[in-house]
Amino acid sequence: MFEKILIANRGEIAVRINRTCKKLGIATVAVYSEADTRSLHVLEADEAVLIGKAPATESYLSMDKIIAAALDHNCQAIHPGYGFLSENADFCTKVSDAGIVFIGPPDKAIASMGDKLSSKALAEKAGVPIVPGHAAALKNAEDALAIADRIGYPVLLKPSAGGGGKGMRIVYSKDQMESSLSSSIQETKKAFGDDTIFMEKFIENPRHVEIQVIADSHGNTIYLVERECSIQRRYQKVIEETPSPAVDETLRRQMGEKACALAREAGYTSAGTIEYILGPDKNFYFLEMNTRLQVEHPVTEMVTGLDLVELQLKIAAGEKLELQQEDVHFQGWAIEARICAEDPSRGFIPSTGMITRYYAPRGGNIRVDSGIQPGSVVSVYYDSMLAKVITRGKTREAARTRMVNALNGYHIEGLETNLYYANTIINHPAFIRGDLSTDFIDQYMENPNNAVKPLQEHMHHVVLAATLIYHNRQSLIRHSLKPMTTLVGGAKKQKDEHLYVVNGGDDVYELLLWGDPEKRLWIVFVDDHEYHVKTPDFEFYRRRLKLEINGQAYRFRLDFSGNFIWGAYCGITRTFEIYTPREWALAQYMPKPEKITADNILESPMPGLIVNVLAKKGDRVHRGQDLVIMESMKMESGVSSPCDGDIEEILVEPGQAVETGDVLIKFTV
Ligand code: ADP
Ligand code: ADP
Ligand code: MG
Repeated sequence: MFEKILIANRGEIAVRINRTCKKLGIATVAVYSEADTRSLHVLEADEAVLIGKAPATESYLSMDKIIAAALDHNCQAIHPGYGFLSENADFCTKVSDAGIVFIGPPDKAIASMGDKLSSKALAEKAGVPIVPGHAAALKNAEDALAIADRIGYPVLLKPSAGGGGKGMRIVYSKDQMESSLSSSIQETKKAFGDDTIFMEKFIENPRHVEIQVIADSHGNTIYLVERECSIQRRYQKVIEETPSPAVDETLRRQMGEKACALAREAGYTSAGTIEYILGPDKNFYFLEMNTRLQVEHPVTEMVTGLDLVELQLKIAAGEKLELQQEDVHFQGWAIEARICAEDPSRGFIPSTGMITRYYAPRGGNIRVDSGIQPGSVVSVYYDSMLAKVITRGKTREAARTRMVNALNGYHIEGLETNLYYANTIINHPAFIRGDLSTDFIDQYMENPNNAVKPLQEHMHHVVLAATLIYHNRQSLIRHSLKPMTTLVGGAKKQKDEHLYVVNGGDDVYELLLWGDPEKRLWIVFVDDHEYHVKTPDFEFYRRRLKLEINGQAYRFRLDFSGNFIWGAYCGITRTFEIYTPREWALAQYMPKPEKITADNILESPMPGLIVNVLAKKGDRVHRGQDLVIMESMKMESGVSSPCDGDIEEILVEPGQAVETGDVLIKFTV
């Protein structure tokens, strides 16, 4: 086994690789950029080397600097993690040429599987079903139209060099072909420096199911249990689980054996993943192979008890797999949620800043892989994924409930995340049923017509949590205003009823609290439903609350501003207005405050880089029209006009860095 390795990555995956190295007694060297000086992955490694400026091209993507650091620090091997250089065949070759072991597959396997067209050819050779389509580069729009006629609409345009869903376009009919193809080519060129596009049949309502394979350099190739990653947003996975609710033992074996056949055909070693799409008719088709460790590998570890990084290290050190196919077993169910720095309420724009408060969930069968801690700074330079929460249970429902509770107890403050959004997905009836497809988010989350009402029980829980907090604060305030004389005589034990009216937006709730504040025991009626609640000591000051309701513990996130209490729980995020019945009667007659926004200026919604300005001075523009393209955390997004008007002045130009709130454009309206 190696004595010392270099981890050529950052964030949660670098932390996670380091953990296995510690377990195996391997010394570690971290690399970091100027933006990551105080990062967790740097603090936890034995040694750390500063390799350059914040932009990844000058640090985490700089092959020469990384290899030089490995040589300087006498590392015998390099683990590339995922992303960055992990699927770069040149890097793999250069590492080997420098006499260092690359912890991953051979460069030839990376090269042949990295390109979607050549990997499809290999898959066909290995007898793996591929998506019906045309496995060759499209020449032009006419060529594309002719091929689409043969395949049948809808079709999918895909970049051969693809990744992360970039450049992909669904084409539903003839008339969309030309414009879709040209925008696909443009995006592909920018993302991959290549413009090879091919065409596939677009499979409707599919699931994404993938197989983890492990191969050693002695000719042993095995598959582990499948992962279902159908919950995707813009082709990016959000929630993953294993096993898949749609896969039975027979299908598992078919998918697994085909995956191994392909891995053998490619001369593959180390851990790799064969991605399939699974149609509603249970036919599966090869999508691509990822020649590295996947983000979602922990769910596999949770149900098999294996450590995939340990297997990678052993295989790279030349060891023989101890495990045979028949030794692979899995137990229970595991689910993973990716936690990203983005703001779901504002179109998922990236969010940056310093983590000011941070409590990760803990407990049996809960695993949190994270690269952050209080004080961590999340910058615009890298991927927005901060952490992953993984839970396991005997059944899918047990794993799911554990995830709901873990997310309820996860507290990240200082920037926006998709934490509550992930919890909304996990609480959706279709998710609970296991009724998944890659359209899930479009269908259920982004279509307001399909919005589902939260469970009454969940609403009651969060309403009573908010009201108890409010009540206790009001009591403390009243108490502190009492003259000293009454306090000296000893505060009279209160044991009376209190009525509140809570406006929850869609619904109004009537609450009756009857409690013994000293014993911290309450009986709460929410619209005639009775709950027995035990509150903790002193927790009323916290933004996180743990309550025992009818004997079970629940966690809530709460935030206060007068009688407005914002709560997040089980995917519900809402501001509750809390009134006494008298205040409520008056509130009916109060004018609603109107939000005042200046709409003759366009402000930057996030920190980032201006990529392009799509209008010029004097142009007439419309509300909602994209005027500026910005880049932040590797993502490009359009910033749209807040009004109908004429452009008076443009204050930014491509290449310029801006902060949140900077004025980009002024209008005359
Ligand atoms: P990437 O390299 O971006 O991961 P993939 O080929 O793995 O590209 O595709 C990403 C996602 O796009 C898949 O997980 C699936 O949801 C969807 N997808 C890809 N090909 C098809 C297809 N032919 N029909 C329907 N959905 C597809
Ligand atoms: P806070 O001040 O926000 O309540 P603390 O660090 O004081 O945070 O922890 C509060 C309690 O929450 C501790 O007793 C901690 O052990 C407990 N806790 C245990 N498991 C979890 C969980 N899954 N999610 C949140 N808190 C948890
Ligand atoms: Mg993929």
